[in-house]
Amino acid sequence: MSSYPETVAGIATALAKGEFSSVEITRHYLDRIAAHDSRLNSYITVCEEHSLNQAAAADAMLKSKDAGPLTGVPYAHKDIFCTKGIKTSCGSRMLDNFVAPYSATVSERLDAASMVLLGKTNMDEFAMGSSNETSYFGPVTNPWREGAVPGGSSGGSAAAVAARLAPGATGTDTGGSIRQPAALCGISGLKPTYGRVSRFGLIAFASSLDQGGPMATTAEDLALLLNVMAGFDNKDSTSVDRPDEDYTRSLREPAAGLRVGIPKQFFSADLDADVAAPIRSAISELETMGAICTEIDLKHMDLSIPAYYVISSAECSSNLSRYDGVRFGHRCDDPRDIEDMYRRSRSEGFGVETQRRILVGTYALSSGYYDAYYQKAQQIRRLIRDEFKNALENVDAILGPTSPTTAFTMGQKSDDPVAMYLSDIYTTAVNLAGLPAISIPVGFADGLPVGMQLIGNYFAEAKLLQIAHQYQNVTDWHQHSPSLDDGIE
Ligand code: GLN
Repeated sequence: MSSYPETVAGIATALAKGEFSSVEITRHYLDRIAAHDSRLNSYITVCEEHSLNQAAAADAMLKSKDAGPLTGVPYAHKDIFCTKGIKTSCGSRMLDNFVAPYSATVSERLDAASMVLLGKTNMDEFAMGSSNETSYFGPVTNPWREGAVPGGSSGGSAAAVAARLAPGATGTDTGGSIRQPAALCGISGLKPTYGRVSRFGLIAFASSLDQGGPMATTAEDLALLLNVMAGFDNKDSTSVDRPDEDYTRSLREPAAGLRVGIPKQFFSADLDADVAAPIRSAISELETMGAICTEIDLKHMDLSIPAYYVISSAECSSNLSRYDGVRFGHRCDDPRDIEDMYRRSRSEGFGVETQRRILVGTYALSSGYYDAYYQKAQQIRRLIRDEFKNALENVDAILGPTSPTTAFTMGQKSDDPVAMYLSDIYTTAVNLAGLPAISIPVGFADGLPVGMQLIGNYFAEAKLLQIAHQYQNVTDWHQHSPSLDDGIE
């Protein structure tokens, strides 16, 4: 490993001091990608020329003292965010030929901060999945173990950060897609409050749940990246109009006296014992730091998976109707007539899991079933939200596992959609409620990372980041990195 700092914060400080240039650090990451990514497959597109141009421009700003806090810092961008002039595939054959004609607001904000885009990361097709195996561009290898999944859908971003092929990355989380891959790859990931980060130009899966957020090795880096990514956007009708915040503002405040609720439902038989153990140690550590941990009751948690999969599939069936082979995306060869064109373009362009979700969603919304499924799911969503709201009146954060298991083996769950969906038992409720939540590494089980989740009240990102940062001050789980074992340094 090189002598360059590995964190966003460390790189930003060194760039400001002129210890090395943005071109040098960008070259360093491009070299690591070239050396290791043919095995990991964490990037779909690497934009070397574009990256080096951005880095040179950043260096000029750093020299003329025009720089912002993250000027010249490289990052990886999930291939769900539109990037003008750069292929944006969303992990799908449908968009394999799509070069975005405009940039997502998040992409524009990262550009405006003069950060350096290394490339676009691999992901489950249209962000549907928990293992990155549904990507048209092939699965991503978990850098901690050959043959293990990195989690999904932001599996490419998680693997790239864990393997130090980027110091930080973007992700999106509809039902756990930032937190679960962060947990399985041993990094930190934050899903912000719904509405904090603009969805404009973020390719839609389930619009009432989708939320972009940062992934990095430390909580401090998440705060720095969120400062760039978040903010009101009048191009997104669900963006919340609140003043900009500095998410690093509370990092240095001690965790003593903070109240942490631990739902007993999060430690049921569904949770692997070897995942529970490091989380229990982390709870003891937080208590040593002065946090007050109490057991709480969240009775409706077991309803979150069925409600999530009805609502998210219903919204996906509507969102994905735009891929008809007419306006953009894949079109079949030599269609006989318009119906043949729709049918074959969509059958060829979408993978099996995406087609399954479209079918489930269309069924749930169809007349006669709407009340039984969709409406019921919306009622459950309200119950879950109310339950969280009540619990969060008495505690500052709710703590539990991020995922019931560590990284599983590729192929293990691909033929059993329900088993795959159960990877999300601790994460989907948070999206149904629209709350912020963070996952941080708290240890290992049989050589694979274990993540712990902290859920906060609406707009309480700074508090979650504070607890996570304070925990990372006294532990070093976030500093572990996998040895890439391919003989290449
Ligand atoms: N794994 C969940 C799903 O497949 C969540 C995906 C996500 O958050 N984008 O829907």
